[in-house]
Amino acid sequence: MPDAARTPLVAANWKMHKTVAESDDFLDRFVGAIGDLTGAEIVVCPPYTALPSAVERTRRSPIRIAAQNVHFEDSGAFTGEISIPMLVELGVGGAIVGHSERRRLFCETDEALARKLPALLDAGLEAILCVGETEAERDAGRTEEVLRRQIEADLATVAGERLGAVVVAYEPIWAIGTGRTATREQAQEAIAFIRALLADRDPAAAAAARIVYGGSVKPANAAELFAEPDIDGGLVGGASLDPDDFVAICAAAAP
Ligand code: PEP
Repeated sequence: MPDAARTPLVAANWKMHKTVAESDDFLDRFVGAIGDLTGAEIVVCPPYTALPSAVERTRRSPIRIAAQNVHFEDSGAFTGEISIPMLVELGVGGAIVGHSERRRLFCETDEALARKLPALLDAGLEAILCVGETEAERDAGRTEEVLRRQIEADLATVAGERLGAVVVAYEPIWAIGTGRTATREQAQEAIAFIRALLADRDPAAAAAARIVYGGSVKPANAAELFAEPDIDGGLVGGASLDPDDFVAICAAAAP
């Protein structure tokens, strides 16, 4: 089991799924089903359009709402982007940054992440930073090299004592949306390595930081993954679109 001092966290990444009506329907069912679950923090990340309604619908629940991306500047000529003050105005509590789909399909760079992370923390928002290797990198024995490069570059601008406020999601790219989950040993090994990287900067912050696993988490495999000593919960894509499946995964994080 992970250190009891770290409250497990489970986040739903809906990607480009659910209209406002569909998001409302999910949350009405999910909020009722989850009740006052304690022992795990729950974050739901809908598309931007559903954020205001999602904040409203979860207001009297333990569920927090976060965005799937954010820009590092407060305002400016950045067509199509959304800023941190815009999220704060809506009551949104944080953002995922560095998801592999944004890195690969939308050219999100380590340099941009190094600006987004301190900006989120300065605004008091939760930052969920995704890192992970491709299948080719794993097969070539380069997993640790890739994780080291991402962690060092993305968190370079976050002071050591603030690292504990960042949630890191280890998401091996070959496991995202493929149905092919990392084994509990693979996930534990990579996450322990990430924690050691954080400890090189600040041991206390590394011990406090939540590091979660993402990549085809489902009700059937959540409990065994979350039982590993360094895995503090999950970032869930596909299985978070179904309220019953997501309730089961959240419950697995809060046994
Ligand atoms: C994700 O997109 O962050 C993810 C983990 O997706 P899935 O659970 O569908 O693999």
